[in-house]
Amino acid sequence: MPILEVREVASGYGDVQILWNASMVLEPGRMTCLVGANGVGKTTLLRTVMGQLKPMSGSIWFEGRDVSRVPAYTKAALGLVLVPEGRQLFTDMTVLENLEMGASNPHARPALKRNLARVFEMFPRLHERMHQKSGTLSGGEQQMVAVARGLMADPKVLMIDELSLGLSPVLTVQLFQNLKQLKQTGLTILLVEQNVQMALAVSDYGYVLAQGRTELEGPSRQLASDHHVRSAYLGL
Ligand code: ATP
Repeated sequence: MPILEVREVASGYGDVQILWNASMVLEPGRMTCLVGANGVGKTTLLRTVMGQLKPMSGSIWFEGRDVSRVPAYTKAALGLVLVPEGRQLFTDMTVLENLEMGASNPHARPALKRNLARVFEMFPRLHERMHQKSGTLSGGEQQMVAVARGLMADPKVLMIDELSLGLSPVLTVQLFQNLKQLKQTGLTILLVEQNVQMALAVSDYGYVLAQGRTELEGPSRQLASDHHVRSAYLGL
């Protein structure tokens, strides 16, 4: 059974419709990527899945349950967690305080110590800097905090919006390696990325969003090697 399913979702902002028909199936333990041109609505889809935007039509299913109208904080408590674009850290708070905020929902709190040890093992840099204000970290370190804060919520599905944005190539490769490690622990990951090449290289399955629809899908390796897909949809 899929862990998350998006069925024919339409969404947007007030009267402005951005998505007309977006569908996705996330199998447990798989890394899925969602790619598409700038402004096509990838973030809008993640916000709708998370519950920050209400779908105009269509439905969203999590672990076999219709969660289309469930608010974001309840979804987070069920294990559906979003690492938002632009990180949205509490910059005046320390790394540790940001991470503790990630564990604020009741189902994550009992696992706080275990998850903290896990994220410090994955990101030793954050362990070294745990008492530093997060606003004073480098962009890459802040992105680590954003991902680590998502992990502190003890997710079953982790959705990450633009992991590589503004990061150096070296750091980008490192963070994608971290995602692979997370996948090996059984975590289901949905990645929205403008670095299409990298996203298709690390993920198992991909969706291409175009004109408000999920126009194409397939195993990532297949999408990456198809000449028509590469030139018509991926700008490669
Ligand atoms: P990018 O890769 O550039 O982040 P995206 O595919 O994630 O793009 P979205 O951020 O979902 O695209 O934006 C889709 C469209 O929705 C854009 O035209 C954008 O201007 C519009 N949009 C985004 N947020 C709002 C908002 N709060 N109110 C109105 N329109 C919005």
